[in-house]
Amino acid sequence: MSTVHATRSAGTRVFDVAAIRREFPILSRTVNGRPLVYLDNAATSQKPRAVIDALRAYYEEINANIHRGVHWLSQRATDKYEAARESARRFINAGSVEEIVFVRGTTEAINLVAQTYGRTRINEGDEIVISHLEHHSNIVPWQMLCAERKATLRVVPINDAGEFQFDAYANLLNERTRLVAVSHVSNALGSINPVREIIALARSRGIPVLLDGAQAVPHLKVDVRDLGADFYTFSGHKMYGPTGIGVLYGRTEWLEALPPWQGGGDMILSVSFDGTTYNKPPFKFEAGTPNIEGGIGLGAAIEWIEGVGLDNVAAHEHELLEYGTRALRKIEGLNLIGTARQKAGVLSFTLDAIHPHDIGTILDQAGIAIRTGHHCAQPVMDRFNVPATARASLAVYNTTADIDALVEGLDQVVRMFR
Ligand code: PMP
Repeated sequence: MSTVHATRSAGTRVFDVAAIRREFPILSRTVNGRPLVYLDNAATSQKPRAVIDALRAYYEEINANIHRGVHWLSQRATDKYEAARESARRFINAGSVEEIVFVRGTTEAINLVAQTYGRTRINEGDEIVISHLEHHSNIVPWQMLCAERKATLRVVPINDAGEFQFDAYANLLNERTRLVAVSHVSNALGSINPVREIIALARSRGIPVLLDGAQAVPHLKVDVRDLGADFYTFSGHKMYGPTGIGVLYGRTEWLEALPPWQGGGDMILSVSFDGTTYNKPPFKFEAGTPNIEGGIGLGAAIEWIEGVGLDNVAAHEHELLEYGTRALRKIEGLNLIGTARQKAGVLSFTLDAIHPHDIGTILDQAGIAIRTGHHCAQPVMDRFNVPATARASLAVYNTTADIDALVEGLDQVVRMFR
């Protein structure tokens, strides 16, 4: 059951962040003797009671293997799991549930496309276009594929603000380009890429586009049909759902045309030693017993977000981002990395002469969880000539008090090192 936390009437926004926080049990705990301030949401989000309860209810009430069972439990579990697929379809406005492949997460979704589309459609001399902003999971599978298929990876540059350079992108596309694979929102910097224009240009040239939506779907409304994406990927654990579950959206034409990638149960219609016929999408791509609890938990997470309303989420996080940006800019010696005009709730920064890991460790003593390191985006670090950054990333339950705690913690870091 989802709760409605916010309503819009006559243009005024009522948004009760305190009520939202109460739905997340972990947010009321202490860490190192201090109230937890959780600002590592780009790595993974916390989970609301609705999701935790859905997982528990699955095991306590309907646990069974799905799809082939005639017994009552199996049918209930199958219904719940497939209802989650429908929720995922609705969430990104896919045309049909056949276009929703359940996978382990974004990483697996991208590898699936590399192993199926890549291995059948990309040949010697072909090119794949990515951007300089990508997470390693949208770089390495393409490097592996390029090595195998003797293809070339081309990289769209970013400017000093961390913005995708559209003109350079347009110049990179040519008759050898077989795929464009870019992030919708950057995890390292928060830049929101101009994906509508990126897709329109590629598709006008007959080039398919994969969007890595891991950092987009928790924060902004995504409509894959409106965008015109060929493939869209996301992870449940970054959007208030469980780990080990995610979605590959693929347009029906692709999922029907592409070969399976893993063989086993569930992905077949019939098997004999003379040959095997494959199941239809999405099952063709889902060999073996799936993450049943994960799918059900993801369904609960989607209903929970829909109950809050993505417009409310986006507006709240945007206000916090502006508040945080203003506050961090006042700290002497702090350099914000990633200042794109279109930006989601990520504050990546360095502090002169203080290593990010020291920042993270001192903040941790104050119960403040941020991320430090290269954020699985080493090329982004190279672009800004830093080995690592400190990163505070926002979710719907964060508050200005969280930002104030961060600023106070950073003031203490500065005092300790100067
Ligand atoms: N892409 C982006 C933009 C991400 O932020 C992440 C997770 N940090 C991934 C891909 C990989 O997601 P997962 O680890 O859930 O597969």
